[in-house]
Amino acid sequence: MCCEHLICARCAGPVVEARCSACRATKAQFHGSHLTLSPSMLVVLIAALSLLTLLAVRHV
Ligand SMILES: [Zn+2]
Repeated sequence: MCCEHLICARCAGPVVEARCSACRATKAQFHGSHLTLSPSMLVVLIAALSLLTLLAVRHV
């Protein structure tokens, strides 16, 4: 599994390009460590992150 097909919730760019810290963290999880994190689990994490970002924007 690779992160090529993933889109970052924070910068809306391909995670593989590592444009922001969220991308780099995600990419590191895929390529850097030996964590067996499933892609579906990652999608849930990214969705939660985008939801938090949305709430933060609305709050301001
Ligand atoms: Zn990003």
